[in-house]
Amino acid sequence: MTTARDTRAATVPTQSTYQNRVADYWNAEENPVNLELGRLDDLYHHHYGIGEADWTVLQEDDPELRGHRVTAELHRLEHAQAELLASHLGPLTPDDRVFDAGCGRGGGSVTAHLRHGCHADGVTISAKQAAFANEQARKRGIDDKVRYHHRNMLDTGFESGAYAASWNNESTMYVELDLLFAEHARLLRRGGRYAVITGCYNDTYGQASREVSLINAHYICDIHPRSEYFRAMARNRLVPVHVADLTEAAIPYWELRRQADHLVTGIEDTFLDAYRNGSFQYLLIVADRV
Ligand code: SAH
Repeated sequence: MTTARDTRAATVPTQSTYQNRVADYWNAEENPVNLELGRLDDLYHHHYGIGEADWTVLQEDDPELRGHRVTAELHRLEHAQAELLASHLGPLTPDDRVFDAGCGRGGGSVTAHLRHGCHADGVTISAKQAAFANEQARKRGIDDKVRYHHRNMLDTGFESGAYAASWNNESTMYVELDLLFAEHARLLRRGGRYAVITGCYNDTYGQASREVSLINAHYICDIHPRSEYFRAMARNRLVPVHVADLTEAAIPYWELRRQADHLVTGIEDTFLDAYRNGSFQYLLIVADRV
């Protein structure tokens, strides 16, 4: 029995040292590939892109115009990914709430709101990102419905069963999947939708490849194997209803980005090698909360 005078319990910080490091990274992050693309239409995405690229942008003779066209094309591919995810959140009404776990500078929640009219709560461990995203929502005049919070997505403190849909767009590699899916299952109402787009390592390859390890080091993350997603969902009342291997669809984005001198971050070839040697996959998983 624990009594009020029991002082043996270890104190657990609200945020682990690792999570503090992740927050430091995103508080400091100002990559042109994230900011210049977002500036085009004030939709800030911090994920990659999918679909065939318009390669004619590279043939533009004027270097400045070529740069602009490449930037716009990469943004189009990133936005296509946000739209794909939003299209899988199920039928939503303007009264419904959705939860954007690891929301970055906020583009995903805005995309979902524009598509469904729903309320959105985005959560990021970076105070700077949450402030930036709230300012964007205010400027757009949707801050009554789209809100961003500086919180841990594993322990949001939000109301149980209050959400019709939730997702992670490239943010699952920062957390333990069991803890994450337990929180989604808690927040989602029965029959609610969960969707994730993520890079994962391919179990058939074996363990994490050199390239996967380089990506982990670059972003301070821990890419999970494909199998772990399904195991952790099964343990947390999330039943997959749709799975798509987006690996092929992800390659044009990286091919174009590696040729965008003004936007490269240095990780482009590693992603292409990882996809091409079969060690890494880009996946969409949609699940029902039962
Ligand atoms: N989903 C966004 C951003 C992806 S980048 C988009 O599509 O644009 C990864 C994001 O995960 C960052 O915003 C980072 O702050 C967030 N993140 C990482 N660990 C987190 C945690 N424990 N709780 C909340 N957010 C976290």
